[in-house]
Amino acid sequence: MMSKITEKIFKGSKHYITSNFGDRSSIVVNGVTTPTFHNGTDYGTDGKKLPQYALEKGTIVNLGTDQAGAKFVVINYPRLNVNMSHYHLDSIKVSKNQQVDNNTIIGYTGKTGLATGIHLHLAIYDLNKKEYVDPEVFAETYEEETSDVSFKVGDKVVVNGTLYSNSYGGKAGKTLVNHEGIITIINLKGTKPYHIDKLGWVAKENISTNANVKTYTVVKGDTLSRIAKKFNTTWQIIYEDNKKIIGSNPNLIKPGQVLTIK
Ligand SMILES: [Zn+2]
Repeated sequence: MMSKITEKIFKGSKHYITSNFGDRSSIVVNGVTTPTFHNGTDYGTDGKKLPQYALEKGTIVNLGTDQAGAKFVVINYPRLNVNMSHYHLDSIKVSKNQQVDNNTIIGYTGKTGLATGIHLHLAIYDLNKKEYVDPEVFAETYEEETSDVSFKVGDKVVVNGTLYSNSYGGKAGKTLVNHEGIITIINLKGTKPYHIDKLGWVAKENISTNANVKTYTVVKGDTLSRIAKKFNTTWQIIYEDNKKIIGSNPNLIKPGQVLTIK
């Protein structure tokens, strides 16, 4: 298993590091040796021309052939605020400004330019730090895109177990459990972007669409495993979705508690 990033770029095809980020190699021109900084990581492919997939949703911002003859593609990933470059490609399968995602083949690995064999030179330019970062280190904190559930004004949603701040004048928050409401205002800049009619501002993780959510009121003698069986799920999933209500001990549920079953 390679990094979370290269597993997605190669979609599981075999690859291995042949040269690390930062390794110093030297270029000798007219007898003058210049140390260079390796601004990416090289991955071998056992000599195979393997498809290269975009990591996630992004835009092709540059592509072409560099001075040494290497075919390259540069993809901007807005969520990560990085530009990612694939070098030495055998062929390029995208065009400039094209929108891509993890199902887009951007090209195939090759050995164009200064390369002794087929390999990918992958470079990640961090647009915040304004410098190249080590792709293997970057991958350690890479979190995949979560499926984007977006809501619209007018959607009927369920607010589940959240402490909300009441915009109707009340100072203290109230804990709401499975309270249905209509979204009246959306302000995506706030930490609680959804305003629910007569309730107040609520965070995205605390609301869900009605259709996907069932509720269950705990009765005497219930255990999470027993409830899980009823809904064809596992007690771990139910516990994970209802931690705020159940508390730290999954073996301790109380009659009357309303659980959300997804
Ligand atoms: Zn390289």
